[in-house]
Amino acid sequence: RLDVRAGLHRNDELGLVSEAFDEMAGRITQLLRSQKELLANVSHELRTPLSRIRVALDLAAEGDAQTARELLPDITEDLAELERLVQDVLTTSRLELVTEGASGATPPLRLEHVDANALVEKAAARFRTARPKHRLEVQVDGVLPGLEADPVLLRRVLDNLLDNAGKYSEPGTTVRLLARAEGSGLQLEVRDEGIGIDAEDLARVGTPFFRTDRSRARTTGGVGLGLALVRRIVAAHGGRLTLESQPGVGTTARLLLPATGAADTPDGRLVAGH
Ligand code: ADP
Repeated sequence: RLDVRAGLHRNDELGLVSEAFDEMAGRITQLLRSQKELLANVSHELRTPLSRIRVALDLAAEGDAQTARELLPDITEDLAELERLVQDVLTTSRLELVTEGASGATPPLRLEHVDANALVEKAAARFRTARPKHRLEVQVDGVLPGLEADPVLLRRVLDNLLDNAGKYSEPGTTVRLLARAEGSGLQLEVRDEGIGIDAEDLARVGTPFFRTDRSRARTTGGVGLGLALVRRIVAAHGGRLTLESQPGVGTTARLLLPATGAADTPDGRLVAGH
């Protein structure tokens, strides 16, 4: 009897070990697949703006000074796109977004005092430089609170939201950046007059690598990491991100950030609405 039980016992342990191995193998396969997907997407997306810059520079070199000046905004936009892509990949690796998944452990925040006015002003200045063909309206209501937050990550949030607003709308249209105090926290809104997001896609944008068919039809590239990063960063700060959109009319991203970053119950769910 004893022998039989010992045998059973061993089998149980073997079973557990083999289950653990299976799970590990699954995780490793998943991880490799994500890394491969990331690499493939990123290399593809780097190529488009790079070759546009090459063509524009060739044209500028062959043409007169006037032609060269006219091509500058296009080159600037493509450079901004490249820059954002590289930043997103770096932030993705810092937050282990792809390896851990959007529901993974909360990323470590390097909390500092952040001046909301400066955050908004600097993001606006970067957008104006990056997207010279868009109009940007900034509206700050009242006195903005100071935040206990990770300044580098918050910068990525604003840059990504503003960049999407510019990328998914026509040159010459207006992008609005609104900021006001909400309770003891900060509410930010980024509105565009762009292509919008279909209702059935609203809940899925913010999933790593997800891009809408509407946006794929555009020449501007994207990997589908930006909003996933925004969502994760906002969640880590105990904040909330809401997207509202009307196809063909425009999109509003609304962000609520508490004054103190690391909330006990982070609620960074992406809330879809119309
Ligand atoms: P991407 O690098 O593709 O822009 P994001 O994660 O920032 O990745 O956005 C995911 C997808 O959500 C985009 O590919 C696009 O389809 C859609 N999207 C995001 N922001 C907007 C917007 N302001 N207007 C329309 N579509 C948007």
